[in-house]
Amino acid sequence: MIRRCRLCAEDDVLIPQLTLDGSSAFGEPFTLSRCEECGAWQVDPPLSLDFIHSYFQAPERWRISHDPEGRPVDPAERAAARQGEYTKYASALINSLEEVGRVVDIGAGAGVMLSLLPDSFQRIAVEPHPDAAEAASRLGLTVMREWAENIDFPSESLTCLIMNQTFDHLRDPSGFLARAVHWLKPGGLLLLTGLINPDGLMPRLYGPGFRLWHPLYQIYPPPGAMVMVLGSHGFEVLRWWQPYFGTPYGSLKQLLLNIPEVLCRMMGKGRGQLSPAWPGNTYSLLARKTLLLQPLKDPARQGQGRALDPRMLAHPSSG
Ligand SMILES: [Zn+2]
Repeated sequence: MIRRCRLCAEDDVLIPQLTLDGSSAFGEPFTLSRCEECGAWQVDPPLSLDFIHSYFQAPERWRISHDPEGRPVDPAERAAARQGEYTKYASALINSLEEVGRVVDIGAGAGVMLSLLPDSFQRIAVEPHPDAAEAASRLGLTVMREWAENIDFPSESLTCLIMNQTFDHLRDPSGFLARAVHWLKPGGLLLLTGLINPDGLMPRLYGPGFRLWHPLYQIYPPPGAMVMVLGSHGFEVLRWWQPYFGTPYGSLKQLLLNIPEVLCRMMGKGRGQLSPAWPGNTYSLLARKTLLLQPLKDPARQGQGRALDPRMLAHPSSG
């Protein structure tokens, strides 16, 4: 069987890294492999599309869920708690868009992100979950109850595509990007948020205890992998964020409380099994469709996905 990277689509490049036991929220063991070409980690073998869809469409997905510490979180509260983070993305979108037009948010949830854009935009929420879709339509958004894998739009009909904490749940992100680039007008924007960096400090320190390993995150792309793969599809990254402060999990107080545990861990003496929330665990990016395709195998770019170029995140806009 060909083992293809689901981010860069190269064949026979996956090397197993970690097998997680059944103690996660998922309750089943799963293995994470890393792509030698782009550096993206991914659930290996991938879950079936039916399984992923039934997970996200389950009624309880739009009721109370549990964070990695097992605390119950109401979905509306969770979305509202991220309003500060979303406002930064909305402001960057408005400032970077070259024209008012059609903006689509795939996996829009209750539509909070889209609702922060002016109603001069045609705002379309693509959301399969019935309760979330109903909440989005109450905000005055156009709602399409559809999955990312099934949705389609006319060529060059969108000015912006948003995937707010959605992209890394796709079973085939590479195939999705290949389709989605055609929907955007030249100069159109792509916003991807909540991507998990497997090369960050916490995964390296805690290994299997990294709090964000979960098989419903299908891929874990390092920032360098996203630059490389987006470039191969004709996107140029304009901005980066590290959303820690302003999320439900991050505050200066919490960071200061966590520092002693992390320092102990760095000296090989850590007590905690589960890594704390930490700046750099996740990142978001805004990219523009340029139509300048960057070859994946350009020798000058070779291996760029394997490590984070520190210049890329030297000046994060938040966190
Ligand atoms: Zn790859």
